[in-house]
Amino acid sequence: MRDQITALESLQQLDLELRELEDNLERYPREVLYYKHELEKLEESIRKAKEELDTVKKRKSATELRLAQNQDSIKKAEQRLFEIKTYKEYEALQKEIGETKRVNSELEERILEEMEEAERLERLVKENELELSQKEQEYEKIINEHALKIDELKGIYEIKKGEKKKLASLLSPDILSIYERIRKKNGVALASARNEVCTGCNMNIPPQLFNEVLTLSKMVQCPNCHRILYCEEIFNGEAQTA
Ligand SMILES: [Zn+2]
Repeated sequence: MRDQITALESLQQLDLELRELEDNLERYPREVLYYKHELEKLEESIRKAKEELDTVKKRKSATELRLAQNQDSIKKAEQRLFEIKTYKEYEALQKEIGETKRVNSELEERILEEMEEAERLERLVKENELELSQKEQEYEKIINEHALKIDELKGIYEIKKGEKKKLASLLSPDILSIYERIRKKNGVALASARNEVCTGCNMNIPPQLFNEVLTLSKMVQCPNCHRILYCEEIFNGEAQTA
């Protein structure tokens, strides 16, 4: 049983390393996706701001055109004032000119607002483009580093997998299958028993059973969490004296 426990200890250590590798192999690609997504979001907001800017500029051109047309019609109406015969007609035309001038002052105000809006959007586009170019550089660096890291981790993972296979071949198939079943369920399948307590679940181990753990006579599982029990002191003590 001693050899089996020793192999199980190594196997457990290897499995913990493998799990950490798996976590990283899942995390790094997810982070890469996150950075790519952040860049896409920024590109999208630039695209939207440019679109909005385009709309505002078009609107401003249309307002300017209307203003120019109105100014033209005022000029023509003012010329017509000299040709008018009756006071009633004169009064009507004066009223029309006054109304157009009033509309024009509104249009001028609107052009100013549209100009300010266009300037605001131009600033926003510039700021976002600057941010994008900075982030592109920053993220490109991280993404490249991650890609290297992923390759490296994949290599290590394969090596560790090979080591696990070798170690597993040293174990009896029964013990191995129990180990794998508990590991999948509880994360770790091996627990040290200290002072008649299972360190995996903190429950008491009956003295009789604990004695079997100490004597290494057979495989002992915790009655509560079913982890395979071993006594750390026996192994560590041996390692120190050896
Ligand atoms: Zn337990």
